[in-house]
Amino acid sequence: MADRDIATNQLQDYKKSAGDTIPTVTTGAGAPIGIKDASLTVGPRGPILLEDVQFIDEIAHFDRERIPERVVHAKGAGAFGYFEVTHDITKYCAAKVFESVNKRTPIAVRFSTVGGESGSADTVRDPRGFAVKFYTDDGIWDLVGNNTPVFFVRDPTLFPSFIHTQKRNPRTHLKDPDMVWDFFSLRPETLHQFAILFSDRGIPDGYRHMNGYGSHTFKLINACNEPVYCKFHYKTDQGIRNLDTKRAAELASSDPDYSIRDLYNAIAAGNYPSWTMYIQVMTFEQAKTYKYNPFDVTKVWSHKDFPLIPVGKLVLNRNPTNYFAEVEQIAFAPSHMVPGIEPSPDKMLQGRLFSYGDTHRYRLGANYLQLPVNCPYRVPVKNYQRDGAMCFTDNQDGAPNYYPNSFSGPQENQRARNLRPKYSLTGDVDRYYSGDMDNYSQVTNFWLNVLSSDERKRLVENIAGSLSGASPFIQTRAVKNFTQVHPDLGSQLSKALQLLCSAKM
Ligand code: NDP
Repeated sequence: MADRDIATNQLQDYKKSAGDTIPTVTTGAGAPIGIKDASLTVGPRGPILLEDVQFIDEIAHFDRERIPERVVHAKGAGAFGYFEVTHDITKYCAAKVFESVNKRTPIAVRFSTVGGESGSADTVRDPRGFAVKFYTDDGIWDLVGNNTPVFFVRDPTLFPSFIHTQKRNPRTHLKDPDMVWDFFSLRPETLHQFAILFSDRGIPDGYRHMNGYGSHTFKLINACNEPVYCKFHYKTDQGIRNLDTKRAAELASSDPDYSIRDLYNAIAAGNYPSWTMYIQVMTFEQAKTYKYNPFDVTKVWSHKDFPLIPVGKLVLNRNPTNYFAEVEQIAFAPSHMVPGIEPSPDKMLQGRLFSYGDTHRYRLGANYLQLPVNCPYRVPVKNYQRDGAMCFTDNQDGAPNYYPNSFSGPQENQRARNLRPKYSLTGDVDRYYSGDMDNYSQVTNFWLNVLSSDERKRLVENIAGSLSGASPFIQTRAVKNFTQVHPDLGSQLSKALQLLCSAKM
């Protein structure tokens, strides 16, 4: 037993903690069961009677065990802990979560891969989801980010198509390099995220050794009702660590649940992972003149222009007590915001404000916010919503279900009303094509100024390995795009592709 890790030993540990008293097995309705291992049959050879309600209770529930898999981010791991403020940012933000230094707020975090199904391997080259739920004094705040500071597309109308290219070919049910590279090469705004994805950070060593980013631009409001734009970053305190492609491929077959296991064991052993949270702040005036559109999620805000400001620490110190209840059912939504934090005009964020709640209502039902892991348990929910499938609270008892009313129904909150600066929007309504904005300069900067020469070499190898599976005309188009990032990247990629393609012949 000595060589078993904590995750593998879970049932042994449960048995020890359960003690000597063994509970009685019951039906779902709580009736004690006398015989558990035999169905009710006419004679020993059957058939089974319809009156075997004990069997029907068991099998009918089993038939419904799976809820729809998340259409993206299906494979993941979760954990719980706290966020602690270490630096005062109240001059920017009046949200209660940042109220005072040393203040702690409970959090839940879910890490995930994006494209694979819930049984897929953890060590694939894919962005990692990094979603944080803050159970604040003002309700739920979800920061639903990734381990990369940018995203593939800047207009959410392209999101379903983009995700389709990451999933299976509708005829063959296979992953398809033509789908992936056709879309990418037709939409060069994907290059920045793509360069990061195919760099060493594209396969993090588990979930503890990667950074997280809110990615989008948000708005912070201070107590004087003054807004600024903001980006969120969490840097791993464990240090960045990545897997090389060979090791990642080995793990995909020997331990496809590598990242889930790593997180579970670390927390169970008391080795609590943590991240330091920073913000970048941009004034509305700066936003008007910044060299990049600050609401374009395919771009970063340079640290040189907008330095990182430390805020606090995220610490994960509790594993889920039950995976399905607390991780499969956890539901993050960028629309879950609290007074003091608002969206920016970022189009991708605007699209996500709608789509996450929508998918949860489909996946978990209209009352998904009542589930223990999702509910804002630190504040009473008082509103005029009622009923719906699986309402399992008192449904707000006898309180009036219409507004306004004369019968002590919940009323507006002055503080929330005060933290709501007006903002003005102008512009002609149109469908604005955004594919031809600057798609290259930050990728060039990444290639030239962030990556070392060894990292550049591996980036080229990694892109070539994937691109070599695509049709030649798509390869040519992709190389042309990478050449626009930098001629060296284009020529090195071209050479690497020729070598790979001639080796295949
Ligand atoms: P900076 O030099 O100020 O920032 C560079 C950033 O790159 C740091 O946050 C660093 O994160 C990260 N980084 C360092 N090495 C790697 C690597 N091998 N792979 C991926 N990221 C790495 O420059 P800028 O702010 O002007 O950004 C330059 C480029 O860096 C951007 O175009 C973008 O591609 C990339 N980047 C920028 C980020 C930002 O928010 N500005 C965040 C992450 C990447 P760390 O300190 O954790 O090592």
